[in-house]
Amino acid sequence: MQPDHELTIETVAVHGDERRPRPEGSLVFPIYQGTVYAVEPGTDYHDIRYHRLSTTPSQLDLHARLAALEGGEAAVATASGMAAITTSLLSLLRAGDHLLASDCLYGGTHDFLTEHAEELGWSCGFVDTQRPETWAAAVTPSTRVFLLETISNPLVRVPRLPDVAAFARTHGLVTVIDSTFATPVNFRPLAAGFDLVCHSATKYLNGHSDLVAGCVIGSAERIDRVRTTLNHYGGSLDPHAGYMLARGLRTLALRVAAQNANAAALARALDEHPRVRQVNHPSLPAHPDHAHAAELLSGFGGMLSLRLHGGAAATQRLLDALTIPTVAPSLGGVESLVTLPAQTSHAGMSPEERERMGVTDDLVRVSCGIEGTEDLIADFAQALEVASVPAAA
Ligand code: PLP
Repeated sequence: MQPDHELTIETVAVHGDERRPRPEGSLVFPIYQGTVYAVEPGTDYHDIRYHRLSTTPSQLDLHARLAALEGGEAAVATASGMAAITTSLLSLLRAGDHLLASDCLYGGTHDFLTEHAEELGWSCGFVDTQRPETWAAAVTPSTRVFLLETISNPLVRVPRLPDVAAFARTHGLVTVIDSTFATPVNFRPLAAGFDLVCHSATKYLNGHSDLVAGCVIGSAERIDRVRTTLNHYGGSLDPHAGYMLARGLRTLALRVAAQNANAAALARALDEHPRVRQVNHPSLPAHPDHAHAAELLSGFGGMLSLRLHGGAAATQRLLDALTIPTVAPSLGGVESLVTLPAQTSHAGMSPEERERMGVTDDLVRVSCGIEGTEDLIADFAQALEVASVPAAA
C-alpha cells in the first residue's frame, strides 16, 4: 500500500504502509529473528540485510509504518528515544559545529548536550523557543542545527512551530524536533517544514510501558545518513521490541484521542479547584500558548502539570493519596502516571536552572492514561481533599 495522505491517521495507524501481498497472508507482520540474510552480488555494505544495519524484513516493515504515520519518505527505528536524538545529531554535526537548542528540553537530552557536546567538539547555544526575537543573535557562522521539542516537558509550552521552521530555513539550519509529547496524531512536524522528527517510541507510540525504543523520520536522504550513523554507533532496535512497537502503533490514534480528552477534562477540573495553585495544559484558555496551540495542534496532548497551594508537603500528600495514577517517571502509556520532574526527568539540572525554567520542587507532572475520565477526576478530587489536611504533628 502506498502512503496516501488522504487517509485518516486512524487508518494509517492500523494499516500504515503495510506490505502487500502479506507474508504467507499473515495479518500480522512476523518477527524475522534472523540477524543475517543472503546477499545479492554488488550490494552496498549499508544495504546488506543484517540486524545492526536496520535492514531486516521486520525492521523495514516497522520503518514503513513509522514513515507513513509522520507522512515522511523514510524512517529508522532505534534502541531508545535517546539513541534517536543523539544519532540524529551525530549524523548532522561535526567537530567545530554549533547548534541551537531549546532551553527547555527533556532532561536526558539537556544532559547529553551539557555533558557530551564539548567533548564531541560541538558548541551549543540554548535559546528560549518562546522568544523568536532572541534567536538570530544566538546564530554563529558555525550553527548547523536547531533542536527543540513540539511540546515542552513538564510545562507543556508549545513554541510557534512554523516560525521556528521558517527561521531555520532562512539561516540554513537543519531542524530536529522531538515530537514525543505530541505524537503524529496531534502534530505532523514534517508537513510544518521540520527536517527530522524524533520520538521516544517508549512513550505514546508503543503506549503500553513495556518496551524502550525510538525512531527518526524525514526525507530518504537524511534518514539514510541517520541510519549510516546508527550503523556505526550500533543502536538498532531488537526484533521483539520492534514487533511490539508495530503492534502498539495500531491503536495509537485511539489511545491518544482518549489521552487528549482525559487531560483536557482533568486540567479543567483541577483549574477550578480551590486547592490548586496552577495548572499547565495548552487546552486551558489561560495557558500562554493556548491560541496558537489551538491552531497548530489537532489535540492538546495527554500531559499536564500542576502545583498546589501548600507547597511540597501538600504535593507529597497528593501523590500518596492518589489511587489510580501510579507515581512513576515515564509517560504515554495507557495507565496514568504522576511524577515530580525535579526529582526525575530534570534531576540532572542544577536547582537554579530548574527554578529558571519553572520546574519547581513541588511541580507535579501527570501523564493521562485511557482510564475513565470521571474516575480520574474523582480520584484527584479525593486526593486533593487529603492533601489539604496537614498530617498530625
Ligand atoms: N524525549 C522525551 C520528550 C522524553 O520524555 C524521553 C524520555 O522520557 C526521551 C526523549 C528519551 O526516551 P528513551 O527513554 O526512550 O530513551
